[in-house]
Amino acid sequence: MIELRGKAVADAHKAVLQEKMTNLEAGTITMAVLLVGDDHGANMYADFMEKTAKNFGYGFVRTQLPSTASHEEVYEALMSLNNDDAVHGILPLMPMPKDIDTEQLIDALSPKKDIDGLTTYNIGLVTASKGGFAPCTAKACLAILDHYGISLEGKHVVVVGRSQVIGKPVALMALERHATVSICHSRTTDLACHVKEADIVIAAAGRAHMITADMVKAGAVVIDVGINELDGKTVGDVDYDAVSNVASAMTPVPGGVGSVTTTMMLEAVYEAYHARNVNR
Ligand code: NDP
Repeated sequence: MIELRGKAVADAHKAVLQEKMTNLEAGTITMAVLLVGDDHGANMYADFMEKTAKNFGYGFVRTQLPSTASHEEVYEALMSLNNDDAVHGILPLMPMPKDIDTEQLIDALSPKKDIDGLTTYNIGLVTASKGGFAPCTAKACLAILDHYGISLEGKHVVVVGRSQVIGKPVALMALERHATVSICHSRTTDLACHVKEADIVIAAAGRAHMITADMVKAGAVVIDVGINELDGKTVGDVDYDAVSNVASAMTPVPGGVGSVTTTMMLEAVYEAYHARNVNR
């Protein structure tokens, strides 16, 4: 069984990106996060993204509002980032407090700075295969398959999960690569029967160890997007130890998709910068 480690993929992509940035001064390219309230996960992710972006030579703007901020205040903060020419990419971090209308907020995000493909505009472009920013986690899944030379063409890909940030876009991207795609979700009857048909399984349901060895075809490739806590440990949606006896290649958790997602984010910020400064 080949372990599809994310670090090798991330390092390869970062090397290409560094090359493109050779003549740019540190801080020329800037990303921003918009954070509202004190959600622990969102704050941790903002810290991690800040460290990663700065280490890579990007500028970083952290706009943080208290949990008491009104929708109008959050909207104004977003507009200010939209209108700031020094900011190239913006990531609004979820969850936000319940009084914030996040759907309205996301669609107010400038599509040109929408590095994680959240806006309806970019979802439309990606769906119509007309470019646009796609969600970084979905891109990470394909980057891993590409890096390890696993073709999607003609393969049966089964995606477990249909969220707008992972399941749907990764299914569309696999379809674009000429895979035959099935999408499963919480109301799928006989999930095991569908997964067993897959040449490539992409598990993105957020349910610890829900994909067991008996559900996976011998020799299948398994991409585990899930990040869950089980008995004090971080685990994926796939029962790694058992499935590794059946699969031909698999991503670990941690150390798989998550480590590539951040690099996809850095790439997207560069693309946003490039589109504005070089392509015009
Ligand atoms: P969501 O909760 O938004 O979506 C989960 C999806 O899984 C839904 O479509 C849901 O179906 C489906 N689902 C839930 N339970 C089952 C089940 N028993 N059988 C089949 N389908 C099921 O989660 P996200 O898409 O945001 O995230 C998925 C996972 O990926 C999480 O563990 C998250 O932490 C992780 N993640 C990992 C990232 C990374 O970089 N590695 C980045 C972001 C998230 P339905 O639509 O019917 O409700």
